[in-house]
Amino acid sequence: MDNDRYPFVNLPLPYAYDALEPWIDEKTMRLHHDRHLQAYIDQLNAALRETPRLQRLTLEELLRAVLRLPEPLQTQVRRAAGGVYNHRFYFDQLSPQPQSLPSGALAAALERDFSGFDAFRDAFQKHALSVFGSGYAWLVCRHGVLEIVTTANQDSPVTLGLCPLLTVDMWEHAYYLKHYNVRADYLRDWFRALHWAWVEERYRACAV
Ligand code: MN
Repeated sequence: MDNDRYPFVNLPLPYAYDALEPWIDEKTMRLHHDRHLQAYIDQLNAALRETPRLQRLTLEELLRAVLRLPEPLQTQVRRAAGGVYNHRFYFDQLSPQPQSLPSGALAAALERDFSGFDAFRDAFQKHALSVFGSGYAWLVCRHGVLEIVTTANQDSPVTLGLCPLLTVDMWEHAYYLKHYNVRADYLRDWFRALHWAWVEERYRACAV
């Protein structure tokens, strides 16, 4: 990931704001990237400004170290670094020309750990809908095994020592303008924009 150390900047989306229409609307993408992610970038830079030893750490190293930091720095970095990492991850995994099904080693792993792609999709949707309030659902790799987890607020699976493969942002700002309160419709449309070739690359990186 480019710009993985302080000072953090809000990298442009890898596609146009309206590129994910009709699944995710332009206004949601603009607000989500330019305001929500920008706020976490600003908060993370502010938290690290007076702490030079943390400025040398990458974003992932910050997330792995966060529970050892003293308060109030711990809470500031946990929220801000998680907000930056989780949002960059969410945007990067989506594509206007998504590869709609997994293949290769990832398809085999989904078959092995979930009894097939359809069963995985159903289980993932169930977990995502179970997120109460604001948070995320993730497909992660734990010691080579695929697993679905949810995180609250901006907590990241990286902090838990897990290697994330894909995620859905279940905060209302991710879907409310288009899908209102119908989270299942948002999940269906998010899933259509999910670029499985990108997820497969993550799987290769996680399996090392
Ligand atoms: Mn968000």
